[in-house]
Amino acid sequence: MNKKKEYHILSLSGGKDSTALAFFMRENMPEIFKKLELVFYDTGCDLPETYNYLNKIEVFLNKKITIVEPDKSFDHIFHTSLLIPAPHRRYCTIELKVKPSWKFIYQKIKKEGEGIFYFYIGIRADESWRKGITPKNNREKALITPKYPLIENHINIYDVERILLDNGINYPDYYNWRERNGCYFCFYQKPLDWINLYEKHPELYKQAIYYEENGRKSHGEIFRWCSFGTLREMIQTDNIKKIKANSNKNKIQKYCNQKLFDTL
Ligand code: SF4
Repeated sequence: MNKKKEYHILSLSGGKDSTALAFFMRENMPEIFKKLELVFYDTGCDLPETYNYLNKIEVFLNKKITIVEPDKSFDHIFHTSLLIPAPHRRYCTIELKVKPSWKFIYQKIKKEGEGIFYFYIGIRADESWRKGITPKNNREKALITPKYPLIENHINIYDVERILLDNGINYPDYYNWRERNGCYFCFYQKPLDWINLYEKHPELYKQAIYYEENGRKSHGEIFRWCSFGTLREMIQTDNIKKIKANSNKNKIQKYCNQKLFDTL
């Protein structure tokens, strides 16, 4: 009986964990690493720092990253529906990430033949409660096998840091001013992340204002990317000061809670 073809795929997000996983696999799973394909699902809306980091990963690992683009850009989807993505309407993830990943799988099958897809997912041991890939039906179950090497090898957040530093790749630059990667307009950002976006990439902030002001306001809903206020209001001098002061207070509170927790 013919052995089924195996595909080994690691989806890079442009963040620290999936990057650390790639370096971990090179070091500890060299046979699989040779066959491993690095893939980035490009929303077209990521930060310039993310694209720079991906270039750096390619150079450091000496491995090409396959860039998979969605059929329709975010801008196209926005202009045809005028709907803004939001936590209760995460079409962004479906259109820009999930559908392209299936397109990638089916194109591979068409070009290279049926097989099993091993997906290596950068979820750490200290966050193993997070959902990775869950194949939904029998067809998906037969096609996809998720793998979690960081969890299996007890790699936590401190180990991830060590892997990134030891390999000289360090963190992506956006970690200096923002807590998460993803689209520049991601609605999960905190107010301070928005202000930092305004200060680092004013042209992207301006584009986010455009989407906010032109997005459809269904059922009388007035759209806001951020609960603090509109993006235009947020960059008024007083509001910038308020947001920065609040986040400093939160940082101090978080630090005190952590210290208290450490001493218990
Ligand atoms: S990063 Fe945010 S805006 Fe972008 S696809 Fe993910 S949830 Fe949507």
